[in-house]
Amino acid sequence: MFKAVFASLRLAFALVCVGLGLILGAQWLGFIPDSRVAEEAARRKFCETVAIAAIDDIRHHRWSKLHTTLEALVRQNESLLSAGLRTDGGILQSATKHHRLCWKPTGSDSGDPVANRADASAKTSNGRSDFDDVLFLSSDDSAAVSRASTDDVPSWVEPTNDSPRQPTAELDGEVIRLDIPITIQNRTWGSLEFTFRTPATGPLGTLLDQGILRLLIFFSVIGMGSYSFLMMRILGVFSRTQVVPERVRQALDTLAEGLLVLDEEGKIVLANDNFLDTNGFEPEELQDRLAGDLPWVISHDEDKPKEIELPWTRAINERQSVVGEILRLTGKDGVHRVFSVNAGPIGDDERQKGALVTFQDVTHVEKHRLELENMLSMLRLSKDEIQKKNQELEILATRDALTGCLNRRAFFERMETILVDYRSAGRPLSCFMVDVDHFKSVNDTYGHHTGDEVLRKVSKVLRDLHEENQVVCRYGGEEFCVMLPGHDLDEAMEQSERTRLAIMNIRLEDPESLRLTASLGVSELKFGAADVQELINQADGCLYVAKRGGRNQSVAYDPDRVDVLGEEEHTPEEIADPDLASLPFHAVTALVSALAYRDPATAEHSRRVANLCVKTAKGLVCQRDIYVLEIAALLHDIGKIGVPDDVLHKPGPLTEDEWKVMRRHNTIGLDMVAGTFHCPELERIIRAHHAVTERGDIERQLKLDDLPLEARILTIADTYDSIVSDHAYRRGRSHATAVRELERCAGKQFDAELVKHFLSKVETDVNESALGVPTAAGIAFAVPKPIALKIGQQIERIAEAMDAQNLEELRALARDLSEIADESYLTPIVDSAKQIEEAASKKEDVEWLTLLRQTQTLLDLCRATQNAHLIETDEQEEAFLE
Ligand code: GH3
Ligand code: MG
Ligand code: MG
Repeated sequence: MFKAVFASLRLAFALVCVGLGLILGAQWLGFIPDSRVAEEAARRKFCETVAIAAIDDIRHHRWSKLHTTLEALVRQNESLLSAGLRTDGGILQSATKHHRLCWKPTGSDSGDPVANRADASAKTSNGRSDFDDVLFLSSDDSAAVSRASTDDVPSWVEPTNDSPRQPTAELDGEVIRLDIPITIQNRTWGSLEFTFRTPATGPLGTLLDQGILRLLIFFSVIGMGSYSFLMMRILGVFSRTQVVPERVRQALDTLAEGLLVLDEEGKIVLANDNFLDTNGFEPEELQDRLAGDLPWVISHDEDKPKEIELPWTRAINERQSVVGEILRLTGKDGVHRVFSVNAGPIGDDERQKGALVTFQDVTHVEKHRLELENMLSMLRLSKDEIQKKNQELEILATRDALTGCLNRRAFFERMETILVDYRSAGRPLSCFMVDVDHFKSVNDTYGHHTGDEVLRKVSKVLRDLHEENQVVCRYGGEEFCVMLPGHDLDEAMEQSERTRLAIMNIRLEDPESLRLTASLGVSELKFGAADVQELINQADGCLYVAKRGGRNQSVAYDPDRVDVLGEEEHTPEEIADPDLASLPFHAVTALVSALAYRDPATAEHSRRVANLCVKTAKGLVCQRDIYVLEIAALLHDIGKIGVPDDVLHKPGPLTEDEWKVMRRHNTIGLDMVAGTFHCPELERIIRAHHAVTERGDIERQLKLDDLPLEARILTIADTYDSIVSDHAYRRGRSHATAVRELERCAGKQFDAELVKHFLSKVETDVNESALGVPTAAGIAFAVPKPIALKIGQQIERIAEAMDAQNLEELRALARDLSEIADESYLTPIVDSAKQIEEAASKKEDVEWLTLLRQTQTLLDLCRATQNAHLIETDEQEEAFLE
């Protein structure tokens, strides 16, 4: 910077010198007029004018008037020192004050004005100058002049002894004398003499004209200033951008990253093309602007500080390089861009020169990262939700809804492992069965509500006493089984008695008077039970003995009385509510799969109808009956397996004969159902449904009330789905058409109340699917709770693997899940899991975002599956227990 300033000053000085030379040359050559010449000409002109005016006064001898005129002229004219009128004979006819003193000839002159005039004309003839009348004063000559004048002094001539009034200073130097001859009638009469003050000279005396000198001084001063400024501008002293050499600037412009060069104050010295283009700035806009004043986007996040420390501030102040700091800048187009900023100090340790800052546009990376983060947080949320639902589902799947005790399936699962472990470890394992005495009479006397309350109280006693280390199970209606790992028979008896006494102490608020007793049977593994069931049978046998022995007692297993116990035909299955063992779901799935192989459209239809039935029946019938209805719906068209292909897949309308063949599928279907399952209820529903669809309207109306509720639901669901779905012979109609048709036939072909109920359920579904909310109906069909739980747990693990970004595990888990879902014919989950498995196998090329979306879809499907189980109301639970 200083170098540039110094160079600018040197150049300006040189230019000023050249300029001065030129002015002086021009003056010497006479191109510039000398102000002294013009002044002299004006002076002579003045004197001549006065002389012409004086001639008239001379002719008429008005000496007094002339004298007054001359006096007035001297007074008015500052530069005029004196004036006098001298006759040709040398007599001073009239003179102003001091004229004699001023009009003294110089030493070189003769003192004779005539001679002086001759000398003056000689000078003029040399052509040297017009100053031919300039005379130089000499002290010797002054006496002669004064002497000559004293001879004949008129009254208006002032005395000689007058001391000089003001021009004393001038008299010591030079005065200018002008002598204007006065000619009257071609005869020289005399002359008018004038003395003028010599104009002030500069330091160079007469060498230079004052005007030129002033011009030279003006030019030197102003020229030096303006030339310096100009040179500084040219050399870029003021322009920070020009501090950077052009070649360097060009090199910086080729960079693929944005770049700012900042000075020590953080002002922008240079912005490269990339920075300008990316953000839409013009170079002039940024020049000399503080980089910190650019529109950086400050985070609105409460946690983050409002004032951010810009990376270059640290680079400049602390001389530290800053790498990879993220900054957001709003470009001229209003777009927020995200930059990864690196800043490094420029300059050495002693002198800080600023910072070099690079900007890598990472907007798209940031966007991608944010999207991934969002997806991940959504995934975590879904995972948490699934986890919660899994827990709920686990409770539902493993616990009895009324009492909270383990259900039989879960109890057996747990006990089998415990039994194996204890047996191999040689440790004791006991169990006891509890049956509330005369419980039926509680129901009969106080109602089922009180019966339920009793069951809750009994189960609470059992759980309070034994839940911590042991396993409590609701084995049947009012029967419980408690397993006591690590306890031998004696200890188990002790526990059993404690339990019996605790049950006796149960008190209800209403009826307060109700007193309960229970009978208990106890057994231990050492008595040779091969498995859990056998151990329970032993205990159950003892319980029976306790009942027969008068109730309200505990009976321990006694191998000696095995014959008595063996006579008992009281099997656990009989004690418990009849479960649905005769309707294994895998068998149903197998049949539906077989139908799907022959006629996929009908299989899909059956699944949809089953979903609709389940949805409609909830709250109307108990859970068990819903299950039977679901299977009836799944199998209501199973007979189509037996219809020949040419009829089954005929594209157009069927002939009468073909309809006969087609109708036969109902009979085939019933035979299949009857042959596969031994469940009269199931057969009754399907048979009633077939009967309704085959009979005429009048007959239907008559018989409507006799039909089982499940069959009436099935008929409505079947009709609705047939209307809205596509067929080989016609396209599916709208939901509104189906509603109209159902409403039209309500009360005749269909149960009017049920139609209303059905439509209210379907409407919710239609609305939800219109909103894009995944619904349980979106799943191929509802699955049993244990399967839903299994799938939920698997998906929980998938979400964890996804969170940990463990591709290998993710792939393995997705494969397992697709297998689990495949077994239950859950096609959407199978497909979704397979997509994840495929996406996860890409390893390096894996697209996390896609993978996250797929996982999210899978989680949604899973949630829907779980929801199907979790929306059970208290009412439904009550229905189930009744
Ligand atoms: P016993 O002393 O011989 O055991 O007579 P009991 O009346 O207790 O035995 P029984 O097996 O004859 O009757 C059991 C009754 O329990 C039949 C059934 O209605 C009722 N029950 C089963 N489960 C429930 C339930 O969840 N809630 C209610 N309120 N009653 C139930
Ligand atoms: Mg009982
Ligand atoms: Mg009983």
